[in-house]
Amino acid sequence: MSIFGPKIKVRFAPSPTGFLHIGGLRTALYNYLFAKKNKGSFILRIEDTDSKRKVEGGVENIINTLHSCELNYDEGPILNQKLKVKSQKSKIKEKGNNGSYIQSERLPIYKHYVERLIEKGTAYYCFCSAEKLEEEKKKQQAEKLPTKYGGHCIKNTKEDAEKRIKNGEKYVIRLKIPENGSTEFEDEVYGKISIKNEFIDHQVLLKSDGFPTYHLANVVDDHLMGVTHVIRGEEWLPSTPKHILLYEALGWPLPKFAHLPLLLNPDKSKLSKRQGDVAVEDYLKKGYLPEALINFVALLGWNPKGDQEIYTLKEFIRYFDLKSINKSGAVLNKEKLDWMNGEYIKAKPIKELTELCVPYLKDAGLVTKKTDKKLIEKIIKIEQGRIKTLQEITEGVEFFFKKPDYVAELLIWKKSDKKETKTILTTLLKFLETLPKGKFEEEKLEKETQRWLKKENINTGDALWPMRTALSGQKASPSPFELAWALGKAEALQRIKDAIKKL
Ligand code: GLU
Repeated sequence: MSIFGPKIKVRFAPSPTGFLHIGGLRTALYNYLFAKKNKGSFILRIEDTDSKRKVEGGVENIINTLHSCELNYDEGPILNQKLKVKSQKSKIKEKGNNGSYIQSERLPIYKHYVERLIEKGTAYYCFCSAEKLEEEKKKQQAEKLPTKYGGHCIKNTKEDAEKRIKNGEKYVIRLKIPENGSTEFEDEVYGKISIKNEFIDHQVLLKSDGFPTYHLANVVDDHLMGVTHVIRGEEWLPSTPKHILLYEALGWPLPKFAHLPLLLNPDKSKLSKRQGDVAVEDYLKKGYLPEALINFVALLGWNPKGDQEIYTLKEFIRYFDLKSINKSGAVLNKEKLDWMNGEYIKAKPIKELTELCVPYLKDAGLVTKKTDKKLIEKIIKIEQGRIKTLQEITEGVEFFFKKPDYVAELLIWKKSDKKETKTILTTLLKFLETLPKGKFEEEKLEKETQRWLKKENINTGDALWPMRTALSGQKASPSPFELAWALGKAEALQRIKDAIKKL
Protein backbone atom coordinates (compact mmCIF):
# COMPACT_ATOMS: atom_id res chain seq x y z
CA MET A 1 0.00 0.00 0.00
CA SER A 2 1.32 3.46 -0.87
CA ILE A 3 0.61 6.66 1.04
CA PHE A 4 -2.08 7.31 -1.56
CA GLY A 5 -3.94 4.14 -0.63
CA PRO A 6 -3.88 0.71 -2.21
CA LYS A 7 -2.96 0.43 -5.85
CA ILE A 8 -6.04 0.28 -8.04
CA LYS A 9 -6.69 -3.23 -9.21
CA VAL A 10 -9.52 -4.41 -11.42
CA ARG A 11 -10.40 -7.63 -13.14
CA PHE A 12 -12.34 -9.01 -16.03
CA ALA A 13 -13.83 -12.34 -14.94
CA PRO A 14 -15.56 -14.08 -17.85
CA SER A 15 -16.89 -17.61 -17.87
CA PRO A 16 -15.50 -19.62 -20.78
CA THR A 17 -18.85 -20.40 -22.35
CA GLY A 18 -17.64 -20.40 -25.93
CA PHE A 19 -17.05 -16.91 -27.17
CA LEU A 20 -16.47 -13.39 -25.93
CA HIS A 21 -19.75 -11.47 -25.94
CA ILE A 22 -19.72 -7.89 -27.17
CA GLY A 23 -20.92 -6.88 -23.68
CA GLY A 24 -17.95 -8.77 -22.24
CA LEU A 25 -15.65 -6.79 -24.48
CA ARG A 26 -17.12 -3.57 -23.10
CA THR A 27 -16.65 -4.80 -19.51
CA ALA A 28 -13.06 -5.77 -20.25
CA LEU A 29 -12.44 -2.42 -21.95
CA TYR A 30 -13.87 -0.31 -19.10
CA ASN A 31 -11.78 -2.26 -16.61
CA TYR A 32 -8.73 -1.76 -18.79
CA LEU A 33 -9.38 1.98 -19.21
CA PHE A 34 -9.95 2.42 -15.49
CA ALA A 35 -6.73 0.56 -14.65
CA LYS A 36 -4.65 2.51 -17.17
CA LYS A 37 -6.15 5.83 -16.18
CA ASN A 38 -5.28 5.20 -12.53
CA LYS A 39 -1.93 3.53 -13.15
CA GLY A 40 -3.40 0.42 -11.61
CA SER A 41 -3.37 -3.14 -12.80
CA PHE A 42 -5.79 -5.30 -14.71
CA ILE A 43 -6.38 -9.01 -14.16
CA LEU A 44 -7.99 -11.61 -16.38
CA ARG A 45 -9.62 -14.33 -14.30
CA ILE A 46 -11.46 -17.30 -15.74
CA GLU A 47 -14.62 -18.23 -13.84
CA ASP A 48 -15.19 -21.82 -14.85
CA THR A 49 -16.78 -23.40 -11.80
CA ASP A 50 -20.00 -24.19 -13.64
CA SER A 51 -18.91 -27.25 -15.54
CA LYS A 52 -22.21 -27.45 -17.43
CA ARG A 53 -21.54 -24.16 -19.16
CA LYS A 54 -17.88 -24.74 -19.89
CA VAL A 55 -16.94 -25.02 -23.55
CA GLU A 56 -13.79 -26.62 -24.93
CA GLY A 57 -11.42 -23.93 -26.20
CA GLY A 58 -13.40 -21.19 -24.45
CA VAL A 59 -10.41 -19.91 -22.47
CA GLU A 60 -8.17 -19.73 -25.53
CA ASN A 61 -10.91 -17.87 -27.33
CA ILE A 62 -11.18 -15.22 -24.64
CA ILE A 63 -7.41 -14.79 -24.46
CA ASN A 64 -7.06 -14.54 -28.23
CA THR A 65 -9.91 -12.08 -28.62
CA LEU A 66 -8.61 -9.78 -25.88
CA HIS A 67 -5.21 -10.01 -27.51
CA SER A 68 -6.60 -9.07 -30.94
CA CYS A 69 -8.22 -6.02 -29.36
CA GLU A 70 -4.97 -5.14 -27.58
CA LEU A 71 -6.57 -5.22 -24.16
CA ASN A 72 -3.44 -6.41 -22.44
CA TYR A 73 -3.70 -7.48 -18.83
CA ASP A 74 -1.05 -7.50 -16.15
CA GLU A 75 -2.04 -10.77 -14.52
CA GLY A 76 -3.86 -13.81 -15.79
CA PRO A 77 -3.67 -16.84 -18.03
CA ILE A 78 -1.73 -16.49 -21.27
CA LEU A 79 -1.22 -18.82 -24.19
CA ASN A 80 2.08 -20.49 -24.67
CA GLN A 81 2.09 -20.36 -28.45
CA LYS A 82 5.39 -22.15 -28.74
CA LEU A 83 4.14 -25.30 -27.08
CA LYS A 84 2.91 -27.84 -29.56
CA VAL A 85 1.16 -30.15 -27.16
CA LYS A 86 -1.95 -32.20 -27.47
CA SER A 87 -3.70 -31.03 -24.36
CA GLN A 88 -5.13 -27.53 -24.58
CA LYS A 89 -4.67 -26.97 -20.89
CA SER A 90 -0.91 -27.26 -21.00
CA LYS A 91 -0.87 -24.52 -23.63
CA ILE A 92 -2.01 -22.10 -20.98
CA LYS A 93 0.56 -20.41 -18.78
CA GLU A 94 0.08 -17.57 -16.34
CA LYS A 95 1.59 -14.24 -15.48
CA GLY A 96 1.23 -12.59 -12.09
CA ASN A 97 1.74 -13.63 -8.48
CA ASN A 98 -1.85 -14.26 -7.48
CA GLY A 99 -2.61 -17.35 -9.52
CA SER A 100 -3.99 -19.63 -10.44
CA TYR A 101 -6.24 -17.31 -12.43
CA ILE A 102 -8.48 -20.19 -13.44
CA GLN A 103 -11.05 -20.94 -10.76
CA SER A 104 -11.31 -24.68 -11.37
CA GLU A 105 -7.67 -24.85 -10.27
CA ARG A 106 -8.43 -23.13 -6.96
CA LEU A 107 -10.95 -25.51 -5.41
CA PRO A 108 -9.07 -26.12 -2.12
CA ILE A 109 -8.98 -22.36 -1.51
CA TYR A 110 -12.78 -22.06 -1.70
CA LYS A 111 -13.19 -25.12 0.49
CA HIS A 112 -10.93 -23.54 3.08
CA TYR A 113 -12.99 -20.35 3.26
CA VAL A 114 -16.34 -22.08 3.27
CA GLU A 115 -15.18 -24.18 6.21
CA ARG A 116 -14.14 -21.01 7.96
CA LEU A 117 -17.68 -19.68 7.49
CA ILE A 118 -19.11 -22.88 8.94
CA GLU A 119 -16.81 -22.53 11.93
CA LYS A 120 -17.91 -18.96 12.44
CA GLY A 121 -21.54 -19.96 12.12
CA THR A 122 -22.21 -17.65 9.16
CA ALA A 123 -22.82 -20.54 6.78
CA TYR A 124 -24.63 -23.85 7.25
CA TYR A 125 -25.06 -27.27 5.73
CA CYS A 126 -28.30 -27.83 3.87
CA PHE A 127 -29.64 -31.30 3.06
CA CYS A 128 -32.91 -30.33 1.40
CA SER A 129 -33.63 -32.35 -1.72
CA ALA A 130 -34.13 -30.81 -5.15
CA GLU A 131 -37.79 -31.94 -5.04
CA LYS A 132 -38.40 -30.25 -1.73
CA LEU A 133 -36.86 -27.01 -2.98
CA GLU A 134 -38.88 -27.17 -6.19
CA GLU A 135 -42.10 -27.67 -4.24
CA GLU A 136 -41.27 -24.74 -2.01
CA LYS A 137 -40.55 -22.53 -5.00
CA LYS A 138 -43.84 -23.44 -6.70
CA LYS A 139 -45.76 -22.66 -3.56
CA GLN A 140 -44.08 -19.26 -3.21
CA GLN A 141 -44.74 -18.49 -6.86
CA ALA A 142 -48.40 -19.42 -6.48
CA GLU A 143 -48.63 -17.06 -3.52
CA LYS A 144 -46.75 -14.37 -5.45
CA LEU A 145 -44.02 -14.33 -2.82
CA PRO A 146 -40.31 -13.82 -3.59
CA THR A 147 -38.80 -17.23 -4.24
CA LYS A 148 -36.14 -18.11 -1.73
CA TYR A 149 -34.97 -20.91 0.45
CA GLY A 150 -37.01 -21.20 3.65
CA GLY A 151 -33.99 -21.78 5.89
CA HIS A 152 -35.15 -25.23 7.10
CA CYS A 153 -31.62 -26.55 7.69
CA ILE A 154 -30.42 -23.56 9.67
CA LYS A 155 -31.43 -25.27 12.88
CA ASN A 156 -29.28 -28.38 12.25
CA THR A 157 -26.44 -28.57 14.70
CA LYS A 158 -22.93 -28.90 13.34
CA GLU A 159 -22.56 -32.35 14.95
CA ASP A 160 -25.80 -33.52 13.40
CA ALA A 161 -24.78 -32.28 10.01
CA GLU A 162 -21.39 -33.95 10.21
CA LYS A 163 -23.05 -37.25 11.08
CA ARG A 164 -25.36 -37.01 8.07
CA ILE A 165 -22.43 -36.21 5.81
CA LYS A 166 -20.56 -39.25 7.15
CA ASN A 167 -23.59 -41.32 6.27
CA GLY A 168 -23.20 -40.19 2.68
CA GLU A 169 -26.06 -37.69 2.55
CA LYS A 170 -25.74 -35.06 -0.16
CA TYR A 171 -25.49 -31.47 0.96
CA VAL A 172 -24.78 -27.93 -0.09
CA ILE A 173 -23.45 -25.08 2.04
CA ARG A 174 -25.52 -21.92 2.28
CA LEU A 175 -24.81 -18.42 3.49
CA LYS A 176 -26.79 -17.30 6.53
CA ILE A 177 -28.64 -14.09 5.74
CA PRO A 178 -29.69 -11.82 8.63
CA GLU A 179 -33.47 -11.94 9.02
CA ASN A 180 -33.91 -8.24 9.64
CA GLY A 181 -32.38 -5.04 8.44
CA SER A 182 -31.10 -4.12 5.01
CA THR A 183 -27.93 -4.46 3.02
CA GLU A 184 -26.69 -1.24 1.50
CA PHE A 185 -23.90 -0.11 -0.71
CA GLU A 186 -22.90 2.78 -2.89
CA ASP A 187 -22.57 1.83 -6.53
CA GLU A 188 -20.19 4.06 -8.49
CA VAL A 189 -22.72 4.22 -11.33
CA TYR A 190 -26.14 3.62 -9.77
CA GLY A 191 -25.58 5.38 -6.47
CA LYS A 192 -27.02 4.12 -3.20
CA ILE A 193 -28.56 0.65 -3.40
CA SER A 194 -30.44 -0.76 -0.47
CA ILE A 195 -32.23 -4.06 -0.23
CA LYS A 196 -34.14 -5.55 2.67
CA ASN A 197 -32.45 -8.70 3.91
CA GLU A 198 -35.75 -10.57 3.94
CA PHE A 199 -35.60 -10.49 0.14
CA ILE A 200 -32.12 -11.99 -0.09
CA ASP A 201 -31.93 -15.71 -0.69
CA HIS A 202 -29.78 -17.96 1.48
CA GLN A 203 -27.24 -18.27 -1.25
CA VAL A 204 -25.64 -21.63 -1.97
CA LEU A 205 -21.88 -21.21 -1.61
CA LEU A 206 -20.69 -24.75 -2.13
CA LYS A 207 -22.59 -27.07 -4.45
CA SER A 208 -23.19 -30.76 -3.85
CA ASP A 209 -20.44 -31.61 -6.36
CA GLY A 210 -17.94 -29.80 -4.13
CA PHE A 211 -17.61 -26.90 -6.55
CA PRO A 212 -18.12 -23.36 -5.30
CA THR A 213 -20.88 -21.26 -6.78
CA TYR A 214 -20.00 -18.16 -8.74
CA HIS A 215 -20.75 -16.03 -5.67
CA LEU A 216 -18.30 -17.71 -3.32
CA ALA A 217 -15.47 -18.06 -5.82
CA ASN A 218 -15.93 -14.52 -7.07
CA VAL A 219 -15.76 -12.92 -3.64
CA VAL A 220 -12.89 -15.07 -2.39
CA ASP A 221 -10.84 -14.36 -5.50
CA ASP A 222 -11.57 -10.65 -5.61
CA HIS A 223 -10.33 -10.43 -2.05
CA LEU A 224 -7.28 -12.66 -2.42
CA MET A 225 -6.27 -11.04 -5.69
CA GLY A 226 -6.46 -7.57 -4.17
CA VAL A 227 -9.24 -6.25 -6.40
CA THR A 228 -10.16 -2.71 -5.37
CA HIS A 229 -12.93 -2.03 -7.92
CA VAL A 230 -15.44 -4.51 -9.26
CA ILE A 231 -16.61 -3.24 -12.65
CA ARG A 232 -19.14 -5.56 -14.29
CA GLY A 233 -22.43 -5.78 -16.15
CA GLU A 234 -25.69 -4.65 -14.61
CA GLU A 235 -27.01 -8.20 -14.62
CA TRP A 236 -24.82 -8.80 -11.55
CA LEU A 237 -26.28 -5.94 -9.56
CA PRO A 238 -28.88 -8.17 -7.81
CA SER A 239 -26.06 -10.49 -6.68
CA THR A 240 -24.05 -7.72 -5.08
CA PRO A 241 -25.94 -7.61 -1.73
CA LYS A 242 -25.17 -11.31 -1.30
CA HIS A 243 -21.53 -10.59 -2.05
CA ILE A 244 -21.50 -7.82 0.50
CA LEU A 245 -22.91 -10.10 3.18
CA LEU A 246 -20.28 -12.64 2.24
CA TYR A 247 -17.47 -10.10 2.55
CA GLU A 248 -18.84 -9.17 5.94
CA ALA A 249 -19.14 -12.80 7.01
CA LEU A 250 -15.52 -13.33 6.08
CA GLY A 251 -14.48 -10.14 7.82
CA TRP A 252 -13.03 -8.61 4.67
CA PRO A 253 -13.16 -4.98 3.49
CA LEU A 254 -15.47 -4.24 0.58
CA PRO A 255 -14.17 -3.30 -2.84
CA LYS A 256 -15.98 -0.53 -4.71
CA PHE A 257 -18.65 -1.63 -7.15
CA ALA A 258 -19.57 -0.18 -10.54
CA HIS A 259 -22.26 -1.81 -12.63
CA LEU A 260 -22.47 -1.12 -16.35
CA PRO A 261 -25.78 -0.48 -18.12
CA LEU A 262 -27.42 -3.27 -20.08
CA LEU A 263 -26.89 -3.54 -23.82
CA LEU A 264 -30.10 -3.36 -25.82
CA ASN A 265 -31.35 -4.12 -29.32
CA PRO A 266 -32.59 -1.09 -31.28
CA ASP A 267 -36.16 -1.97 -30.17
CA LYS A 268 -34.90 -1.64 -26.56
CA SER A 269 -35.24 -5.36 -25.87
CA LYS A 270 -32.35 -7.10 -24.12
CA LEU A 271 -29.50 -7.76 -26.54
CA SER A 272 -29.96 -10.91 -28.57
CA LYS A 273 -28.03 -13.96 -27.54
CA ARG A 274 -27.52 -15.31 -31.04
CA GLN A 275 -23.80 -15.83 -31.45
CA GLY A 276 -23.60 -14.18 -34.88
CA ASP A 277 -24.91 -10.93 -33.45
CA VAL A 278 -22.87 -10.71 -30.30
CA ALA A 279 -19.66 -12.74 -30.55
CA VAL A 280 -16.63 -10.49 -30.82
CA GLU A 281 -14.70 -13.14 -32.75
CA ASP A 282 -17.46 -13.25 -35.37
CA TYR A 283 -17.26 -9.49 -35.82
CA LEU A 284 -13.49 -9.78 -36.24
CA LYS A 285 -13.95 -12.60 -38.74
CA LYS A 286 -16.35 -10.51 -40.79
CA GLY A 287 -13.68 -7.85 -41.03
CA TYR A 288 -14.53 -5.36 -38.35
CA LEU A 289 -11.26 -3.85 -37.25
CA PRO A 290 -10.40 -4.31 -33.57
CA GLU A 291 -9.79 -0.56 -33.20
CA ALA A 292 -13.25 0.16 -34.59
CA LEU A 293 -14.90 -2.39 -32.32
CA ILE A 294 -13.13 -0.91 -29.32
CA ASN A 295 -14.21 2.59 -30.33
CA PHE A 296 -17.76 1.37 -30.79
CA VAL A 297 -18.14 -0.54 -27.53
CA ALA A 298 -16.42 2.22 -25.54
CA LEU A 299 -19.31 4.49 -26.42
CA LEU A 300 -21.98 2.00 -25.34
CA GLY A 301 -23.09 3.60 -22.12
CA TRP A 302 -20.42 6.23 -21.74
CA ASN A 303 -19.31 9.24 -23.69
CA PRO A 304 -16.56 11.75 -23.26
CA LYS A 305 -18.38 15.08 -23.60
CA GLY A 306 -18.61 16.65 -27.06
CA ASP A 307 -19.55 15.26 -30.48
CA GLN A 308 -16.31 13.56 -31.37
CA GLU A 309 -17.00 9.94 -32.34
CA ILE A 310 -13.63 8.56 -33.30
CA TYR A 311 -11.12 8.16 -30.48
CA THR A 312 -7.82 6.44 -29.99
CA LEU A 313 -7.39 4.12 -27.04
CA LYS A 314 -5.04 6.71 -25.51
CA GLU A 315 -7.77 9.36 -25.68
CA PHE A 316 -10.24 6.97 -24.09
CA ILE A 317 -7.80 6.38 -21.25
CA ARG A 318 -7.39 10.11 -20.77
CA TYR A 319 -11.13 10.81 -20.66
CA PHE A 320 -12.46 7.71 -18.91
CA ASP A 321 -14.44 8.29 -15.76
CA LEU A 322 -16.62 5.77 -13.93
CA LYS A 323 -18.87 8.52 -12.64
CA SER A 324 -19.96 9.56 -16.12
CA ILE A 325 -21.24 6.13 -17.13
CA ASN A 326 -24.95 6.20 -17.99
CA LYS A 327 -27.50 4.37 -15.92
CA SER A 328 -29.89 3.62 -18.75
CA GLY A 329 -29.40 0.78 -21.23
CA ALA A 330 -27.19 1.34 -24.26
CA VAL A 331 -28.58 0.52 -27.70
CA LEU A 332 -26.31 -1.44 -29.98
CA ASN A 333 -26.70 0.28 -33.31
CA LYS A 334 -25.18 -1.85 -36.07
CA GLU A 335 -25.34 0.96 -38.64
CA LYS A 336 -23.20 3.09 -36.41
CA LEU A 337 -20.68 0.28 -36.10
CA ASP A 338 -20.61 -0.10 -39.89
CA TRP A 339 -20.08 3.61 -40.34
CA MET A 340 -17.32 3.62 -37.74
CA ASN A 341 -15.59 0.63 -39.25
CA GLY A 342 -15.77 2.33 -42.65
CA GLU A 343 -14.05 5.38 -41.16
CA TYR A 344 -11.25 3.23 -39.74
CA ILE A 345 -10.88 1.47 -43.08
CA LYS A 346 -10.64 4.83 -44.87
CA ALA A 347 -7.89 5.94 -42.52
CA LYS A 348 -5.72 2.84 -43.06
CA PRO A 349 -2.58 3.16 -45.19
CA ILE A 350 -3.09 1.19 -48.43
CA LYS A 351 -0.31 -1.29 -47.80
CA GLU A 352 -1.68 -2.20 -44.40
CA LEU A 353 -5.25 -2.40 -45.65
CA THR A 354 -4.14 -4.63 -48.50
CA GLU A 355 -2.50 -7.02 -46.07
CA LEU A 356 -5.71 -7.12 -44.05
CA CYS A 357 -7.87 -7.73 -47.13
CA VAL A 358 -5.77 -10.39 -48.85
CA PRO A 359 -6.92 -13.27 -46.59
CA TYR A 360 -10.55 -12.45 -47.47
CA LEU A 361 -9.75 -12.33 -51.19
CA LYS A 362 -7.89 -15.63 -50.88
CA ASP A 363 -10.77 -17.26 -49.02
CA ALA A 364 -13.14 -16.14 -51.73
CA GLY A 365 -10.87 -17.77 -54.30
CA LEU A 366 -10.21 -14.44 -56.01
CA VAL A 367 -6.47 -14.20 -55.49
CA THR A 368 -3.61 -16.62 -55.02
CA LYS A 369 0.03 -16.21 -54.11
CA LYS A 370 0.72 -15.50 -57.76
CA THR A 371 -1.71 -12.60 -58.13
CA ASP A 372 -0.02 -9.30 -58.91
CA LYS A 373 0.34 -7.44 -55.61
CA LYS A 374 0.16 -4.08 -57.40
CA LEU A 375 -3.22 -4.97 -58.89
CA ILE A 376 -4.56 -5.89 -55.46
CA GLU A 377 -3.30 -2.63 -53.98
CA LYS A 378 -4.96 -0.65 -56.74
CA ILE A 379 -8.27 -2.43 -56.18
CA ILE A 380 -8.04 -1.76 -52.47
CA LYS A 381 -7.39 1.90 -53.18
CA ILE A 382 -10.47 2.08 -55.40
CA GLU A 383 -12.70 0.23 -52.93
CA GLN A 384 -11.35 1.76 -49.73
CA GLY A 385 -14.01 4.43 -49.54
CA ARG A 386 -16.85 1.99 -50.26
CA ILE A 387 -16.30 -1.00 -48.01
CA LYS A 388 -17.64 -1.04 -44.49
CA THR A 389 -16.01 -4.34 -43.52
CA LEU A 390 -12.95 -6.15 -44.83
CA GLN A 391 -15.19 -9.00 -45.95
CA GLU A 392 -16.96 -6.63 -48.34
CA ILE A 393 -13.79 -6.33 -50.39
CA THR A 394 -14.75 -9.63 -52.00
CA GLU A 395 -18.01 -8.26 -53.38
CA GLY A 396 -18.12 -7.06 -56.97
CA VAL A 397 -14.39 -7.25 -57.69
CA GLU A 398 -14.17 -10.58 -59.50
CA PHE A 399 -13.88 -8.91 -62.92
CA PHE A 400 -10.57 -7.33 -61.91
CA PHE A 401 -9.01 -10.77 -61.72
CA LYS A 402 -10.89 -12.55 -64.46
CA LYS A 403 -12.04 -11.37 -67.90
CA PRO A 404 -15.72 -10.50 -67.52
CA ASP A 405 -18.49 -12.43 -69.17
CA TYR A 406 -21.40 -10.28 -70.33
CA VAL A 407 -23.85 -9.77 -73.22
CA ALA A 408 -23.01 -7.31 -76.01
CA GLU A 409 -26.14 -5.25 -75.26
CA LEU A 410 -24.64 -4.13 -71.95
CA LEU A 411 -22.10 -2.09 -73.92
CA ILE A 412 -24.73 0.13 -75.52
CA TRP A 413 -25.52 3.44 -73.87
CA LYS A 414 -29.11 4.71 -73.87
CA LYS A 415 -30.02 6.00 -77.35
CA SER A 416 -26.90 4.65 -79.00
CA ASP A 417 -26.85 1.39 -80.95
CA LYS A 418 -24.54 -1.51 -81.70
CA LYS A 419 -23.01 0.03 -84.79
CA GLU A 420 -22.34 3.40 -83.28
CA THR A 421 -20.95 1.87 -80.09
CA LYS A 422 -18.58 -0.25 -82.15
CA THR A 423 -17.35 2.80 -84.07
CA ILE A 424 -16.85 4.84 -80.93
CA LEU A 425 -15.04 2.05 -79.08
CA THR A 426 -12.77 1.54 -82.08
CA THR A 427 -11.75 5.19 -82.21
CA LEU A 428 -11.42 5.29 -78.43
CA LEU A 429 -9.14 2.27 -78.59
CA LYS A 430 -6.95 4.00 -81.16
CA PHE A 431 -6.74 7.06 -78.99
CA LEU A 432 -5.91 5.08 -75.85
CA GLU A 433 -3.21 3.21 -77.72
CA THR A 434 -1.42 6.48 -78.39
CA LEU A 435 -1.24 7.36 -74.70
CA PRO A 436 2.06 6.58 -73.00
CA LYS A 437 1.91 4.15 -70.06
CA GLY A 438 2.59 7.02 -67.68
CA LYS A 439 -0.71 8.61 -68.68
CA PHE A 440 -2.58 5.47 -67.69
CA GLU A 441 -3.12 6.81 -64.27
CA GLU A 442 -6.63 7.60 -63.10
CA GLU A 443 -6.65 11.40 -63.09
CA LYS A 444 -4.35 11.94 -66.04
CA LEU A 445 -6.31 9.42 -68.05
CA GLU A 446 -9.56 11.15 -67.26
CA LYS A 447 -8.21 14.55 -68.24
CA GLU A 448 -6.73 13.32 -71.53
CA THR A 449 -9.82 11.33 -72.45
CA GLN A 450 -12.23 14.17 -71.69
CA ARG A 451 -10.10 16.53 -73.78
CA TRP A 452 -10.10 14.04 -76.63
CA LEU A 453 -13.88 13.50 -76.45
CA LYS A 454 -14.45 17.23 -76.68
CA LYS A 455 -12.13 17.55 -79.64
CA GLU A 456 -13.81 14.67 -81.45
CA ASN A 457 -17.22 15.95 -80.45
CA ILE A 458 -18.28 12.62 -78.97
CA ASN A 459 -20.98 12.47 -76.31
CA THR A 460 -19.42 11.43 -72.97
CA GLY A 461 -21.99 8.72 -72.17
CA ASP A 462 -21.71 7.18 -75.63
CA ALA A 463 -17.99 6.61 -75.09
CA LEU A 464 -17.50 6.20 -71.37
CA TRP A 465 -20.38 3.80 -70.74
CA PRO A 466 -19.10 1.23 -73.27
CA MET A 467 -15.54 1.80 -72.07
CA ARG A 468 -16.56 1.11 -68.47
CA THR A 469 -18.69 -1.91 -69.27
CA ALA A 470 -16.00 -3.29 -71.57
CA LEU A 471 -13.57 -3.15 -68.68
CA SER A 472 -15.87 -4.48 -65.98
CA GLY A 473 -18.73 -6.34 -67.65
CA GLN A 474 -20.91 -4.82 -64.90
CA LYS A 475 -23.88 -2.49 -64.88
CA ALA A 476 -22.40 -0.65 -61.95
CA SER A 477 -18.71 -0.37 -61.12
CA PRO A 478 -16.04 2.21 -60.37
CA SER A 479 -15.27 4.76 -63.12
CA PRO A 480 -13.68 3.65 -66.41
CA PHE A 481 -10.55 5.59 -65.53
CA GLU A 482 -10.11 3.87 -62.19
CA LEU A 483 -10.68 0.54 -63.87
CA ALA A 484 -8.22 1.19 -66.69
CA TRP A 485 -5.61 2.35 -64.19
CA ALA A 486 -6.07 -0.72 -62.00
CA LEU A 487 -6.04 -3.19 -64.90
CA GLY A 488 -3.05 -1.52 -66.57
CA LYS A 489 -2.75 -0.43 -70.18
CA ALA A 490 -2.29 -3.85 -71.80
CA GLU A 491 -5.22 -5.55 -70.06
CA ALA A 492 -7.50 -2.54 -70.45
CA LEU A 493 -6.89 -2.31 -74.19
CA GLN A 494 -7.34 -6.05 -74.57
CA ARG A 495 -10.74 -5.87 -72.86
CA ILE A 496 -11.83 -3.04 -75.17
CA LYS A 497 -10.73 -5.15 -78.17
CA ASP A 498 -12.77 -8.07 -76.81
CA ALA A 499 -15.77 -5.77 -76.52
CA ILE A 500 -15.41 -4.59 -80.11
CA LYS A 501 -15.33 -8.22 -81.22
CA LYS A 502 -18.53 -8.88 -79.29
CA LEU A 503 -20.39 -6.08 -81.06
N1 GLU B 1 -18.21 -14.81 -14.28
C1 GLU B 1 -19.09 -13.68 -14.36
C2 GLU B 1 -19.45 -13.50 -15.82
O1 GLU B 1 -19.36 -14.41 -16.53
C3 GLU B 1 -18.39 -12.49 -13.78
C4 GLU B 1 -19.24 -11.50 -13.12
C5 GLU B 1 -18.36 -10.55 -12.33
O2 GLU B 1 -17.59 -9.82 -12.96
O3 GLU B 1 -18.42 -10.56 -11.13
O4 GLU B 1 -19.82 -12.45 -16.27
